[in-house]
Amino acid sequence: MNNASISRKRNNDADPIVVGGVTPFTTIDYPRQLATVLFLQGCPWRCHYCHNAKLLDRKESIPVPWVSILDFLQQRGGLIDAVVFSGGEPTLQSGLTDAVRQVKRMGFRVGLHTAGCYPDRLQKLLPGIDWVGLDIKASKKHYAEVTGVRSSGENAWRSARIVVESGVDYEIRTTVHPRLMDRDRMTDLVHELADIQVENYVVQECVQNNCLRPDYRGIENFPFDAGDIDNIARRFARFELRKTD
Ligand code: SF4
Repeated sequence: MNNASISRKRNNDADPIVVGGVTPFTTIDYPRQLATVLFLQGCPWRCHYCHNAKLLDRKESIPVPWVSILDFLQQRGGLIDAVVFSGGEPTLQSGLTDAVRQVKRMGFRVGLHTAGCYPDRLQKLLPGIDWVGLDIKASKKHYAEVTGVRSSGENAWRSARIVVESGVDYEIRTTVHPRLMDRDRMTDLVHELADIQVENYVVQECVQNNCLRPDYRGIENFPFDAGDIDNIARRFARFELRKTD
């Protein structure tokens, strides 16, 4: 968290969610909106390139109290448009539904960053969400190689179908690390995305300096050239490439 006006304290059991960090103002986490991002603690997966190692364990010894976050948001009414629940994996926390409801009541749009670990919970949450950024990490058969968890592909792809069919505004994005993605794998992935009629797709280059696995850092080497990117882009109504340079 990088705002001194939001204090931390020992975990309060009455807090609906455990927040490990806050970015008070950002323009890049919700399309065309000025947003505050709340990073929820805990994730059931262990992606080799994860750059949020501190958020992976379910317990944070000094979380950001929910009441401080609500105070902060109250003071920022009119200055920010949206609140984004990110992580970790925010749908891990059962209190998310209540937290979303409270933020909506304050008049903010609500964004959700998720890896789709829990499709049933995601489906229940979606009516309260205005925009979803869903990570799809690989084609189904390669999923566990990225996350380290056997059933992860089934859950993520079920979540993708739910998001696409929901009518909620979304982007589906894939983080590309050269150890985990190449042309053949991307071809499989693009076919599967097209099969479920994904329209808005983003490919983002992995920022490698903080990868969970030290041997995944400093490799660089983006595996696609301009022709590959053109071939990917033409399969989607909207496509964006986010490079690190
Ligand atoms: S799903 Fe996201 S937060 Fe969880 S390990 Fe993977 S990259 Fe990290």
